[in-house]
Amino acid sequence: MKACQYVEIGRPPRVVDVEKPTPGPGEVLLRITASGACHSDEFIMSLPEEQYTFGLPLTLGHEGAGIVEELGEGASGVEVGESVAVYGPWGCGLCHACAQGKENYCRFAEERAIQPPGLGAPGSMAEFMIVDSPRHLVRLGDLDPVASVALTDAGLTPYHAIKPTLPKLLPGSVAVVIGVGGLGHVAVQILKALSAATVVALDAKEAARQLALDVGADHAFASDSAAVDEIRRLSGGLGATVVFDFVAADATTALAATMVHAESDLVIVGVGPGSVPVGFFSLPHEVRVWSPYWGSRPELEEVLELARVGAIHVETETFGLDEAPVVYERMHAGTLRGRGIVVP
Ligand code: NAD
Ligand code: ZN
Repeated sequence: MKACQYVEIGRPPRVVDVEKPTPGPGEVLLRITASGACHSDEFIMSLPEEQYTFGLPLTLGHEGAGIVEELGEGASGVEVGESVAVYGPWGCGLCHACAQGKENYCRFAEERAIQPPGLGAPGSMAEFMIVDSPRHLVRLGDLDPVASVALTDAGLTPYHAIKPTLPKLLPGSVAVVIGVGGLGHVAVQILKALSAATVVALDAKEAARQLALDVGADHAFASDSAAVDEIRRLSGGLGATVVFDFVAADATTALAATMVHAESDLVIVGVGPGSVPVGFFSLPHEVRVWSPYWGSRPELEEVLELARVGAIHVETETFGLDEAPVVYERMHAGTLRGRGIVVP
């Protein structure tokens, strides 16, 4: 079968021929219907050899959807032919966090070398993929796999970041989304669907600001200090009650820190190098700074429900499997609108 693999440190990924996998005991083989390209893929492919821990060659793709093709011995709970999406942050399934569906925070994943597909285990940017357990599948039902596949990360990650902040997002408050790409444009929609806040999007790119407005942002500005003045004006002088930084460059986390007020949340979702010093004199009092990772299994069900009722959708550009490396070129060039989806 064909697969898009990262083969050599610092070189672009390539489409190669590899053996079609067979499901072992308890595993599920999917025939891939769609696979999303995330900025995190580009991030790991930018790492120098000494920091790269995902194995080579690596079949990319941690946002995956497919049709159940074959069940390994003893695997049950899904039927051959069902349309499913993959819950990516795999855990052990048994520890306290996993028992709550929070496999993204499995305490044993690291020591047992359990890695997500596309981020260690072979991913979805291929004709077929192995899912280690039916527990890591969600039924798509009537949802279109190409339109929904990115909800497994570009939807789930912002949802997980936004949900705990909802009690703070009262009418009159301002929520700020920095970076309106794959994750950010879904974040804008989740905020509009679930909160009364005024949603302000910041991005360096004009096209991304337009995308934010197209999917429902109330305002969109370039990410600079003039935006902070606008945010203060829109909030009656108060500032941003919650800031979601989907970039986390030094410049964006620093900007975020200048717009918060007492008891705000500053949520660092991007995997950039930016950070925010926390101390008695460094931020307004009781600002909560946190950096979430992906989301839980029940939250993925909730995100898919939001899509089913039409409250959120993913703007997609589709590519064939042979064109998969082009998605990453386009991502690097910043010319994708929403999410690039590979359709084998
Ligand atoms: P993307 O490439 O689709 O979008 C990034 C957006 O940020 C673009 O619109 C770009 O114009 C904008 N941007 C870049 N630099 C900027 C700057 N300095 N100021 C303002 N805007 C800027 O990326 P994505 O796939 O949405 O991922 C966003 C980030 O989230 C990445 O860092 C990714 O690695 C990370 N991520 C984190 C998690 C997690 O669990 N925490 C999960 C998935 C992705
Ligand atoms: Zn991702």
